[in-house]
Amino acid sequence: MVVDKLCIFCKIARGEIKSQSFVAENDTFFAIHDIQPMAEGHTLVIPKKHCVTLLDIPSNMGKDMLDLLKKVSGELMDEKLGDGFNLVMNNLVVAGQAVMHAHIHVVPRKEKDGLHSMTQIKGR
Ligand code: AMP
Ligand code: ZN
Repeated sequence: MVVDKLCIFCKIARGEIKSQSFVAENDTFFAIHDIQPMAEGHTLVIPKKHCVTLLDIPSNMGKDMLDLLKKVSGELMDEKLGDGFNLVMNNLVVAGQAVMHAHIHVVPRKEKDGLHSMTQIKGR
């Protein structure tokens, strides 16, 4: 497994730091609640191995990524945390990426929730 010893998401993936907010996992991805949620249920879908951006995620992990995104998004909808949802991925610093381990934000949306339809998740 490719890891970065200092990387916060690698530490969570390895179980070195316990995430209070573990949501789900499969062979190559896991999901946790965002520590600074933009909306209730805001979840991050993260590869278990250290990848910096989408471009580093092997295509053969694509099915696991889609499966977990659909599971997380579907459960947020089932739980009525959103009437819709945004998937957002910030890739590299200029696009707003703060944690340099790839992750996809799943953000539940409601009418008049005051959030933007985002091109980048930060600049909140
Ligand atoms: P980005 O700007 O796309 O890199 O966003 C990184 C996200 O990771 C932010 O929304 C943070 O709130 C979130 N984050 C940082 N550290 C943790 C952590 N330990 N557990 C959960 N979410 C985190
Ligand atoms: Zn990492």
